[in-house]
Amino acid sequence: MIAPRDELVFAALGGVGEIGMNLAIYGLGQEGRRTWLAVDVGMSIASEEHLPGVDLIYPDIRYLVEERRNLAGIVLTHAHEDHIGALLDLWPQLQVPVYATPFTAALLQAKREGEPGAPEIPVKIIPLGGRFSVGAFELEYVSVAHSIPESNALVIRTPLGVILHTGDWKIDPTPVIGAPTDERRLRALGDEGVLALIGDSTNAVRDGRSPSESDVAKTLAGLVASAPGRVAVTTFASNVGRIRSAALAARAAGREVVVVGRAMERIVQVARETGYLDGIQDFRGIDAYQSLPRQRILALCTGSQGEGRAALARIAEAQHPSVTLDRGDRVIFSSRTIPGNEKEVGRVVNGLIRQGIEVISDRTHLVHVSGHPRRAEIEEMYGWVRPRIVVPVHGEALHLSEHAAIARALQVPEVVVCENGDLVRLAPGPAAIIDEVPAARIYKDGRLLVEADAPTVPHRRRLSFAGMVSIALAITRKGDLATDPEIELTGIPQETADGATLDDVAYDAVMETFESLPRARRGDPDALAEAVRGAVRSAIAQHWGKKPMCHVHVLAV
Ligand SMILES: [Zn+2]
Ligand SMILES: [Zn+2]
Repeated sequence: MIAPRDELVFAALGGVGEIGMNLAIYGLGQEGRRTWLAVDVGMSIASEEHLPGVDLIYPDIRYLVEERRNLAGIVLTHAHEDHIGALLDLWPQLQVPVYATPFTAALLQAKREGEPGAPEIPVKIIPLGGRFSVGAFELEYVSVAHSIPESNALVIRTPLGVILHTGDWKIDPTPVIGAPTDERRLRALGDEGVLALIGDSTNAVRDGRSPSESDVAKTLAGLVASAPGRVAVTTFASNVGRIRSAALAARAAGREVVVVGRAMERIVQVARETGYLDGIQDFRGIDAYQSLPRQRILALCTGSQGEGRAALARIAEAQHPSVTLDRGDRVIFSSRTIPGNEKEVGRVVNGLIRQGIEVISDRTHLVHVSGHPRRAEIEEMYGWVRPRIVVPVHGEALHLSEHAAIARALQVPEVVVCENGDLVRLAPGPAAIIDEVPAARIYKDGRLLVEADAPTVPHRRRLSFAGMVSIALAITRKGDLATDPEIELTGIPQETADGATLDDVAYDAVMETFESLPRARRGDPDALAEAVRGAVRSAIAQHWGKKPMCHVHVLAV
């Protein structure tokens, strides 16, 4: 039933204007009385340089928490961290049912078991291609090829129109696992009539089509067969198709697969349980590594992004407890370096090369393909689905605008480029941004969640840049110093250019300021602290060119 003022709306709470942290919401009903559906609850990885000490970035879900009573459920499209990575930490604030296909549910469960204290989330498992309803939304999963098993587009049927939320997809006629993107289903959907397509923009800047996972399998087989010594293959652990291809390459070359790294072990176990490694030989544990001859080994390693704690970085530093590589061994990066990780990957590559180990990457060989559609694939999808409205998502500003340009060139009647937090009305038409909902970021900082606008991280950045001075002053009732001030410098150089110590510089600044203050003002702890703080920072800055943070504690004794 539709009431006259009912609307169908969409907003991204994350994942638009950025790659990562995907969280989309769809609302049905009139303003103030809508029911909501959330699709994916992903995370982004924080860059150490910009956000020191922060591990992960999550979407701020305060809007969903406010609307919790009206939130019918969360549907997951696939198990990549940019789609499910924030769920374990954020779900307790929402406590609504979660829907996923079997592999996604199994990986989420394995992740939960690896994190003590993680919530028990009631996941409703939906078969591939399954239809189900969540609140007022009639849903259907449509299988699409991607770079993890069971990637799904989501069809959302409402009384005001049908939406295709593509999720992450590509057209790969010969994926290594799973069926190709379900063209027949998508064409049928186009015949049914699609109001809006909310779609992946990641590779909208790239012409043509992405090569097939099977092409990568062929390259890998050749490189593994021709390797003179040991072979190590590193890839995104979630890419089970790639693991399968590496295993087949190993078998053909008479090599055993040794799994190195926790994330890889976990995914292999989940893939075995869910049947995605059926027909693949058993892998060996790490204890087999030392006993196998060099020509019989293929090590499957975590660490394709140069992560310092992952297996490959430790191997490159010759620090791994049980895995070593030597001159003449071959390392294949069956991966792409995610922007921002270049330095870390470079460090690993250089470490390997210094040891005489051969490094092969997608720079010279087809050892990786993206899981996202290039322009010709997007065009083909639009030919099948024929949407009335297109909203580009899953991309930075450039990707979104290129995606929008493709849609306009294909005569899609309405194209809406939005930002996180824009509320887009999809029906009744015309499509438009009609409002804003709160959308921001929160940081996973150690075990805690910290709001992005809290001073925590800016303080930490300032500390990392200019250190800190702590000063304690004990003042008598008469306004004299009870003892010498205590001064501690942290993260500040010891000596000035003329050989004085910055300790002394700070000490002199404290004493001069103190003595220059009239007795009456010395009795006001706040005024005293403020005066000392300003003087110490300026005095240090005169020598150093930087102003440290400064904390002054005044004790009345
Ligand atoms: Zn994905
Ligand atoms: Zn994604």
